[in-house]
Amino acid sequence: MDCIAPMNPKSIARAAELLRRGELVAFPTETVYGLGANATNDTAVARIFEAKNRPSFNPLIVHVPDPETAAAYAVFTPMAEAIAARFWPGPLTLVLPRRPDCGLSRLTSAGLDTVAMRVPSHDRARQLLRSAGIPIAAPSANRSGLLSSTTAEHVADQLGDHVSMILDDGPCAIGLESTVLDLSEETPAILRQGGLPQEEIEDALGGPVAIASADDDAPKSPGMLTRHYAPSQPLRMNASTAQPGEALLGFGRVMEATKNLSPDGDLVEAAANLFAFLHALDTPDHDGIAVSPIPETGLGRAINDRLRRAAAVGETD
Ligand code: AMP
Ligand code: MG
Repeated sequence: MDCIAPMNPKSIARAAELLRRGELVAFPTETVYGLGANATNDTAVARIFEAKNRPSFNPLIVHVPDPETAAAYAVFTPMAEAIAARFWPGPLTLVLPRRPDCGLSRLTSAGLDTVAMRVPSHDRARQLLRSAGIPIAAPSANRSGLLSSTTAEHVADQLGDHVSMILDDGPCAIGLESTVLDLSEETPAILRQGGLPQEEIEDALGGPVAIASADDDAPKSPGMLTRHYAPSQPLRMNASTAQPGEALLGFGRVMEATKNLSPDGDLVEAAANLFAFLHALDTPDHDGIAVSPIPETGLGRAINDRLRRAAAVGETD
């Protein structure tokens, strides 16, 4: 692939422009290479999931150049401020409440009211973020189920056909993902172990920190569930029409849809709209949400995964 560019001021400026336009750009950080997109652009974020071929919508980490910028998108308690002051820039991601007016794509947070934020310590990564002037959603730059990329060549092998550009700044210094610390609830919890050791977090917090299992199937203690967004109303899949009282969330050529994820049957558009439309329909105006059939291919698998979880709420949650 010849979209690999050595990371320098010129390629950074070009990458920043591509990101602002909604294209995908892979870039190095001190942890692993990230697959970046404009976090405020639903379609750009949907393309991340398409490129990774992820079977589910996990929330993504939003990268910003400094803690001040992070405060525009997330709510910092005094504890979060202290943790950020101590460990940012660095390999620590903080899960915090989203500001209601943050402008971030709902897909970035997978519909949750929280957002994961990080300020990388990689100088050139921060230059890119500053130059882009927008928050960048970036999961690890690998196909789903494969190893995280720690060189530009890894990215090119796995995602070369899906990205507009790969910025190359050599191998990542840490080579492990960031540690994810949830500070959105009263009790801080590590959601993922990573580049910042647990001991350092415990030293900062002045005591032991809870460890949440990120594994959906593992036993969980209350309050430590891997959270998923689900509307408060009952959801019915594979519906051809709405029943009385239901809103109809359409896909493709559907008559009388209350909202349509994609009238043209485009799965990227449908993924981009999914969480925003579910939120919009989750009002007392209806007592249920019926959803048109979504094909079980490409991004349709991730859409159906989320709808299935939402439909099962009340049975299993
Ligand atoms: P990746 O993007 O592949 O580096 O993975 C990001 C990690 O952060 C995953 O383990 C996510 O589940 C976790 N994460 C991101 N945002 C949130 C959030 N709002 N709440 C809980 N976990 C999150
Ligand atoms: Mg990953």
